[in-house]
Amino acid sequence: MRMRACGLSDVGRSRNHNEDHFQIVGDGRLCVVADGMGGHGHGDLASRIAVDAILDCLGEDNGDSDGAPERLEKAINRAHDTLLEKVAGNDDLIGMGTTAVVLLVDGRDAVVAHVGDSRAYRLRQGELELLTEDHSWVNEQVRAGFLSVDQARSHPLKNVVTRALGGDSEIQVDVTEIEVQPEDLYLLCTDGLTTMLRDEEIRERLRERGDRPLDEVCSRLVGDANQRGGLDNITVILLAVEE
Ligand code: CA
Repeated sequence: MRMRACGLSDVGRSRNHNEDHFQIVGDGRLCVVADGMGGHGHGDLASRIAVDAILDCLGEDNGDSDGAPERLEKAINRAHDTLLEKVAGNDDLIGMGTTAVVLLVDGRDAVVAHVGDSRAYRLRQGELELLTEDHSWVNEQVRAGFLSVDQARSHPLKNVVTRALGGDSEIQVDVTEIEVQPEDLYLLCTDGLTTMLRDEEIRERLRERGDRPLDEVCSRLVGDANQRGGLDNITVILLAVEE
């Protein structure tokens, strides 16, 4: 199988700086998106530190025989510890944190791991599937039946995450193993996309991809989120799997 990946991050229309970061390694076998938070511009620092720490940890050959899920979980925990160390050494940084969503592909096997409300989706045979479960207050309300998905998207507390790197001293990483098939299209994104566009709208834009280059599809998703108001930073990575 061949893969192609493309990413785009945009400040949006409302914020004056971008606190999201993303990285794509190689042809896309490792993709990371992080959405930083914290006052005084430190969200930007938090998401950058987390992305770098995750890549560094996954790039190390530590000689152990951990499988991909364990390696990913370890890498995200490393990013969390790195952030806690930074905060412990500088009171100005208190309150900084970040989400992270990571996709690691190894042949036909892949692992998705995340903390927070950045998401991974898969389009397969025209159907869009959400591969992650937001760690957010509004999602808890949706699950409990108190809010609809649409109410959650526009709720004043939609930005409140219940898990974040750099936050509480212990974190719990959600790790999911998936099988990759040719023609799959994966999307990793921050909530700046998913609070502006409904899942059905994202699905339509991915379905309409046709032969368009991935960067055009990324631009269109970001452009549409901006057209809706662009109330937050918007980051997307698309990974297309080919035969
Ligand atoms: Ca955000």
